[in-house]
Amino acid sequence: MNKTSQSAQSAQKSSPIMATNHKAGSVYGRPVPIDNGISVVLADNAKDYTGPGTNTYVVGDERLWIIDPGPADAAHVAAVETAIAGRSVDGIFVTHTHLDHSPAAKPLKALTGAPVYGSKKLCSKLAALTDEDVDLDFEADHELSGGETIGDGKWRIDVLHTPGHFPNHLCYLLPEVGTLFSGDHVMGWSTTVIVPPLGNLADYLASLTLLEETGATRLLPSHGDAVECAVTRIREVRNHRMMRHAQVGACVARGITEPETIVDMLYDDLTARLIEAARSCVRAHLDMMDEKQPDQELMAQ
Ligand SMILES: [Zn+2]
Repeated sequence: MNKTSQSAQSAQKSSPIMATNHKAGSVYGRPVPIDNGISVVLADNAKDYTGPGTNTYVVGDERLWIIDPGPADAAHVAAVETAIAGRSVDGIFVTHTHLDHSPAAKPLKALTGAPVYGSKKLCSKLAALTDEDVDLDFEADHELSGGETIGDGKWRIDVLHTPGHFPNHLCYLLPEVGTLFSGDHVMGWSTTVIVPPLGNLADYLASLTLLEETGATRLLPSHGDAVECAVTRIREVRNHRMMRHAQVGACVARGITEPETIVDMLYDDLTARLIEAARSCVRAHLDMMDEKQPDQELMAQ
């Protein structure tokens, strides 16, 4: 256990875990160019956990990749089709199988004939452990486990396995332009929710290190705006988690171990949904103190 002398009572209370500093006036239903042959289509699925909605990225010039197809929403799929503009699609890349990220892979594959790249769907035993919104119908044509390189030159993508938010989470790096599609792992507008048992804080921190080591300069997350200084944001997120870990550790040192009580002490002004998210994150901190690991046998299935 990581005990700390810091008093939980003296620890500064935090603002809500979900910041809302993303740009107002988000554009739904049409592609918005970013640069370097990358454009973004924003799905109209804004919620507490998704910010203004899911970002689906269209990458390339004559031949395209789609990164994070998004939710099962016909209007969104039609907007991505507009962005494709009749060009050929070489691959549909999924960051992870939460329902706001992967379901549109199926209709987009049907439209374009492109293969789906991603990490395996959750086995039913694993899926039964969580009430997170999981895409149980997900099928990948190409199973990725991290370390793969696809394409070459300007259009080369490196695959990173980044568990923590979710066990099958992948990030995708365009090394030539220093751009990292960071999925839900690192976002600018909010920290990500870690829901045990499938979410795991120790894995999350290890994945942060992996991302930092890529030397990426810019993050394009699956929710919210681009982050122009990748390393600064990655370090900020790590520092925030470690600050929270010390606060939770101080509670534990005083014999306070109920996530509900710890959240009441550490967080202010949370809506009902965000209270649940905060309790999950506190459970993830407690699991890390206990060195609790997800069931590796189940994870391997
Ligand atoms: Zn997610």
